[in-house]
Amino acid sequence: MYYIGIDLGGTNMKAALVNEACEIVAKKSIPTVAEHSAEELVRDMAHLSLDVVAEAGVAAADVKAVGIGIPGSVNSEAGVIIYTCNLPFRNTNIRKIFREVFDVPVFIGNDADCAALGEAFAGASKDCRHSMMITLGTGVGGGIIIDKKIYSGFNGIGGELGHMVIVYDGAPCGCGRKGCWEAYSSATGLIRMTGEAMDAHPESLMWKLCSRDNVSGKTAFQAEAKGDAAAAEVVDKYVSYLACGISNIINIFQPEVLCIGGGVSKEGDNLLKRLVPKVEKECYNRDVEKTRICIATLGNDAGLIGAAMLGS
Ligand SMILES: [Zn+2]
Repeated sequence: MYYIGIDLGGTNMKAALVNEACEIVAKKSIPTVAEHSAEELVRDMAHLSLDVVAEAGVAAADVKAVGIGIPGSVNSEAGVIIYTCNLPFRNTNIRKIFREVFDVPVFIGNDADCAALGEAFAGASKDCRHSMMITLGTGVGGGIIIDKKIYSGFNGIGGELGHMVIVYDGAPCGCGRKGCWEAYSSATGLIRMTGEAMDAHPESLMWKLCSRDNVSGKTAFQAEAKGDAAAAEVVDKYVSYLACGISNIINIFQPEVLCIGGGVSKEGDNLLKRLVPKVEKECYNRDVEKTRICIATLGNDAGLIGAAMLGS
C-alpha cells in the first residue's frame, strides 16, 4: 500500500507517493494558481495526486489515503480548512470535493505539524514517541508530537509555539501581540537585529557583506566567523532568545528530541554549539535524561512525508 502526502504552498503544490517504509517513491510539483477558487485548488490537488500515482506506475486502488499539509488553521477531524493566510480557503470542507475526482480517504493537518510528524516517522526523531520540531523561517513554526501523533488542542489550532511571549511588551508580532518568540527567533527577527546592529556599528564588517537592504539571516553568522565584534553580539543575542524559547518548551513538554528546521537551521553545528549550552543552563532537568536538540534531517520532504502519514 501507498500513501500520498501533499504540501500546499502559496507558490507551488507538491505531491509525493510514499511507501509503507515512509520513503518517497515519486514526487510532482505544479504551480498553485493564484486565480483559482478554493474548490478549484482542491480539484488541482486531487488531479496532481492521480498524476503522481500514474507516473509511478502504481494503481490508484493501492493508495490507502491522501494527507494534505495546509498553511493555516484546520479541523482535521472534520476535514475542514478553517482559514489560510494567502490562499482562499475559509471553512472549506475539502473531503467531498477531493473525492469527486479521486475517491480515497483524505486527511488534513497544519503544515508545521506535518513537518514535525514527518521527522517523527522518518527523520531526526524517528526512534522516539514524544518529539517536537521548530521551524525557523519567516516565522517560527512548531509541531508537538505525542505518541507519534500530532497534538493540536481541542480545536485543531494548538501548537503555535512561535506565539509564546518571551519579552513582555516587547517587539510587535504579526499576530497582534508584543514580544512573541517569533519576533525574535525567526529569520525575520534575526534580520531585524542584524540591521539594527549595522546601524549602530558603521565600522562593522557586516557592511562589507551586504547593503542595508539585502541583509539576510546569514549575514551576522558570516561576519562573526570572520571575527566581527558587532556580529558576534547579534549572534549571541539571537541564540539567547532562541534558547529562552526552547527552554520554555522543554520545561513544559520534555520531548525526547527537539529538532530544528527552516532557513536558520542551515547554520548546523555552528548554531547548535552555541545553543545547546545555553538551553542546558536554563532547563529544569537536572539529574534526568535530557532532551536531544538537533537539526532536522528531511528538509522540505518532512512536510510531504508527515502529510502522507496523517492517514497511516
Ligand atoms: Zn505572535
